Amino acid sequence: MADSSPTPVLNDIDGAVLDEQTTLADLTTFHVGARPRLTVRCRTQDAVVETVRRLDAAGVPLLVVGGGSNLLVADEEPLDLVVVLIECAGVSVEEDTGLLRAEAGAVWDEVVSTSLAAGLGGLECLSGIPGSAGATPVQNVGAYGAEIADVLTRVRLLDRETGEVSWVPASALDLSYRYSNLKFTARAVVLEAEFQLRTDGLSAPLRFGELARRLGASSAGERRPAAEVREVVLDLRRGKGMVLIPGDHDTWSAGSFFTNPIVPAQIADSVQDKVRRSLGAEEAESMPRFPAGEGKVKLSAAWLIDRAGFDRGYPGEGAPARLSTRHTLALTNRGEASTGDIVALARDVRDGVNRAFGVRLEPEPIWVGCSL
Ligand SMILES: Cc1cc2nc3c(=O)[nH]c(=O)nc-3n(C[C@H](O)[C@H](O)[C@H](O)COP(=O)(O)OP(=O)(O)OC[C@H]3O[C@@H](n4cnc5c(N)ncnc54)[C@H](O)[C@@H]3O)c2cc1C
Repeated sequence: MADSSPTPVLNDIDGAVLDEQTTLADLTTFHVGARPRLTVRCRTQDAVVETVRRLDAAGVPLLVVGGGSNLLVADEEPLDLVVVLIECAGVSVEEDTGLLRAEAGAVWDEVVSTSLAAGLGGLECLSGIPGSAGATPVQNVGAYGAEIADVLTRVRLLDRETGEVSWVPASALDLSYRYSNLKFTARAVVLEAEFQLRTDGLSAPLRFGELARRLGASSAGERRPAAEVREVVLDLRRGKGMVLIPGDHDTWSAGSFFTNPIVPAQIADSVQDKVRRSLGAEEAESMPRFPAGEGKVKLSAAWLIDRAGFDRGYPGEGAPARLSTRHTLALTNRGEASTGDIVALARDVRDGVNRAFGVRLEPEPIWVGCSL
């Protein structure tokens, strides 16, 4: 069986450091998860390639980890896999063309601030998202009306099926809302990502109402100096517990735990009817619904959770896993939660929303060794 295969020799790989102590609780922002068979800290792209090739050839299960901010991992040992921790972190910028390249292990928010310091616009709305540059294409990260698909040109990939390394255009990744064909499949490892940014230093068009209002923008789609937009985005994110702060348990999470459901228009209508019957016409009229192409509508997971009766901080003092006290869409570890506590809370919320509105919420993070 694959998962009982012995770990191949890895200690002769340049740029790879073997670590037998680190747990997934140490590596993830949920701060839960068992000790893997081994963690291989890869300081160069070549070390990532060689480590993954050897593990795959030996049939040893592996988990690629960047910043650990979108992972929920089982905490019961044995966790029979090897963690490949991506630590190559170089960033290069061409100020005249606006091309920025980041190695996969670069801290994403540092990439954003580097781009702004070079006078480039385009990443400002994605300020404050935790994790690594290499993970940004994996779920097409997005926030405040922008997503990585807007600026990503290509990625340098290690294809795990063939073992080949090549630059692949962003169009080959099927990027869509919180999705790419890398997510859930682990078919390839991102070694480096390239972005085409704006050289005039202006932001992407402001598409998110709350952000535009805070900036006093007079029309949708206005552009502002990118550095100014970053500051407001960071401020808004801090208010929602969406910037990592050590010791702040509202940020011991994976950010938004559920994706916004995309449903056929008639389902959205029936949800609105249910809201009307249970909460009244005014609530029903205020239900957020956004066109999502071809007769589809995107609903707000946070709004549905809230209206299903889950308040911030649910289920209350003393519970080891709770909804964030600042945002109902984030499930959080208050310090002592187990993976099971977080899974139980996720089920509770998912089932409550389903009972109230007939909508099944889907989790956004990647689950390893556990399931909903
Ligand atoms: C407080 C908070 C706020 C957040 N806000 C947002 C937000 O606004 N928008 C948003 O989209 N997300 C948000 N997230 C989720 C998360 O930060 C992003 O998904 C981020 O891109 C994950 O990066 P990471 O390096 O931490 O990935 P990890 O958690 O390490 O990995 C996530 C998945 O990607 C895979 N992976 C990681 N690196 C690579 C690589 N180099 N190649 C191939 N696969 C890889 C892993 O195997 C795993 O399957 C938030 C999370 C937190 C904790």
